[in-house]
Amino acid sequence: MEVNQGISFIPDLESGHEVDPKVQGQKMQALRQALLNWYGLSGRTLPWRQTQDPYAIWVSEIMLQQTQVKTVIPYYDRWLQAFPTIAALADADQQQVLKLWQGLGYYARARNLHRAAQVIVEEFNGEFPADLSSALSLPGIGRTTAGGILSAAFHQPLPILDGNVKRVLARLTALAVPPNKALNSLWQISTDLLDTQNPRDFNQALMDLGATVCTPKNPSCLLCPWQPYCRAFQLNQQTQIPMTETRSPLPHKQIGVAVIWNEQGNILIDRRPQSGLLGGLWEFPGGKIEPGETVEDCIKREIREELGIEVTVGDRLMTIDHAYTHFRVTLNVHHCRHLSGEPQPIECDEVRWVTLAELEQFPFPAANVQIIQALQNGSSLPVV
Ligand code: SF4
Repeated sequence: MEVNQGISFIPDLESGHEVDPKVQGQKMQALRQALLNWYGLSGRTLPWRQTQDPYAIWVSEIMLQQTQVKTVIPYYDRWLQAFPTIAALADADQQQVLKLWQGLGYYARARNLHRAAQVIVEEFNGEFPADLSSALSLPGIGRTTAGGILSAAFHQPLPILDGNVKRVLARLTALAVPPNKALNSLWQISTDLLDTQNPRDFNQALMDLGATVCTPKNPSCLLCPWQPYCRAFQLNQQTQIPMTETRSPLPHKQIGVAVIWNEQGNILIDRRPQSGLLGGLWEFPGGKIEPGETVEDCIKREIREELGIEVTVGDRLMTIDHAYTHFRVTLNVHHCRHLSGEPQPIECDEVRWVTLAELEQFPFPAANVQIIQALQNGSSLPVV
């Protein structure tokens, strides 16, 4: 009985075997067909697959970066209702854009979508560009996003390599190093495998395979159309591949955060600078606690430096732990009372006194939304 040795997409350094191009081509075709057959039976029905509108597909591609489908769908629907065209998005106020994105995280994606829509209106007559180099020139669009959009909207034979696809291809070839150390090889494999006659369905199928079958933990190999060709499966290494990179523990920052009340019962909020993490979002002011500093001293110092005002620090409202990609924070949130000085936007773009009810109108990062909810629940009234 013939034992399937899998497929050599890249030079087999261990065996040094030459790969017969004809056999290779036949295996590639078998893989394509198996994947497309599986997709026809098991592919997901998703809103952005019902359209060829490059704008709608672009929005879905950006939202799906770092975010799961079930989370994306309501955001996608609301976004297209609010901004049905590229021109509508280009015309929108950034605060409205960020508010609609609130809760999805990685806010640079929203700012880039907005900015790119304005570039498309200014430079491409309002039409999403159909060529790769123009698409790549837009803010927030890299090679895999461009491949996803142009293959789905314009049937262009362009490969993709997102996180799901890296994992599938690493397992298919039993890649012996972490995927990010073999990106050129993985791009080549994705290019070689692509069905150039049907790139839209092929790329969507590849994404679905990674999202629903070849999942990070416990891949469903017995349901997989590529199981007969998969080296990781043959070697029983599907849970060890892809290899992971050794990571040092995330740095942890302690932050003092102030909910500052004035005599009228209004609360002071500030808008973060455009550049940097959470740019353009609103927040309760505060900053990093220095070594040896108490939370109270940190808050007084930060508020003086950031806003040029004096406050008294009162009761603790709550403590929030939150993880970002490269660090973790603990927010030590206190009620504060405004004592003196007119708030100035010294280290932020804007400051405002708002009522508790008005807080809902502003885009805040997820950790700050918890503070708003606690204030709205009235679980802790200010005692300062
Ligand atoms: S056989 Fe298993 S490990 Fe290989 S591609 Fe399919 S699901 Fe992934």
